[in-house]
Amino acid sequence: MNPDYELPLDEAAYSFGFLDEYAKREVRRCILKAISIPGYQTPYASREMPMGRGFGTGGLQVTLSLIGQNDVLKVIDQGSDDSVNAVSLRQFVELTCPGIDTTESTVDATLIQSRHRIPEKALTEDQVLVLQVPYPDPLVLVEPSEARRKVMHGEGDYSRILTKLYEDLVHFDEITISHRYPTRINGHYVIDPSPIPRYDVPQLHQSKALVLLGAGREKKIYAVPPYTQAEPLVFDDVPFRIEDFTNAQGQRYACVRCGAVDSYLDEIMPADSQERAQKFWQCSDSDYCNQQLAQHKLLAGEAA
Ligand SMILES: [Zn+2]
Repeated sequence: MNPDYELPLDEAAYSFGFLDEYAKREVRRCILKAISIPGYQTPYASREMPMGRGFGTGGLQVTLSLIGQNDVLKVIDQGSDDSVNAVSLRQFVELTCPGIDTTESTVDATLIQSRHRIPEKALTEDQVLVLQVPYPDPLVLVEPSEARRKVMHGEGDYSRILTKLYEDLVHFDEITISHRYPTRINGHYVIDPSPIPRYDVPQLHQSKALVLLGAGREKKIYAVPPYTQAEPLVFDDVPFRIEDFTNAQGQRYACVRCGAVDSYLDEIMPADSQERAQKFWQCSDSDYCNQQLAQHKLLAGEAA
C-alpha cells in the first residue's frame, strides 16, 4: 500500500452504534413486534459482531439499536459491573457510541444490559432492561424440531415441559431447575427468561421497565412489556420457590461485605483448601452491595 495514502476519515470511523442504520431499523422493527406479541420469539437477521457468539452479541445488538445520545448505559455480568465480559461490552459501546454516558448505578441508568441477573433495585418505567440470551426456546429440551416447537408455542401446548417438571418432582421431591426457569408471559407464550436465577423471575411480573431479551446466535428477540403477567410454570399444589439462602437452622445468610439479608447471594469458597469450611456469602449485585455499605457508613457517621 502507498504509505502516503490516508484512509478518508468517514470510511475509517464507525457509524454511531457500530451497526448501519438499516440493521438498527430492522432490529427496532423486531423489537416492536416482540413488544406487540409478549413472549413471542421474533426472528431477526442477527449481524456479525466483532466478538464471538455467546459473548452477548444478541443483547448488544438490541442495546446498540436503542441507544441514543441522551442515554446512560449500565452493563453488568452476574450482577457485577467489573467482570471482564461487562467491561469489554461497555468499552465497545463507549467506542462506537461517542457522547453517551455509562454508569455503575442502577438508578442512574436508562438502559441496562445484563447477563444472568436482574438488578436488585426495582426498575422504573423510564428504564429498559436488555438480557443476553444463549438459548431462547424453553421447548428445545423436549422437542428438537424448530418447526414443531413453533406449532406447540402457537397452540400454547406446554404439556411436555410440565411433564418434565413433574418427573423432577417424582425423582427429587422438588423442581431442580435453578436458572432459565420456564415462565409464561401474558397467559400464553412460555419463554426462557435467560440464565437468571429463580430469585429474579418474580421481578419480571408486572415489571415497570420494558424487558427485552436478545439471542444473537439463535437470531431471536422477545419481550416482556411493562405491566405484563409473567408466571413461572408450576402445579396448583406445588408453589414456585426461590432460593432462600438459609442455613440448617433456618437462619438467612447475610452478605459478608454489607450485611444485607434481602439480596441474592453468591457463595464464595476460599481458594485455600484449609479454609474451605469457612465459605462465605456476598451480594451478587455489586451496585446494591455498595449502596448498602455506603448507607451503613453514613448512619455510623451520624451516630458518631
Ligand atoms: Zn452486600
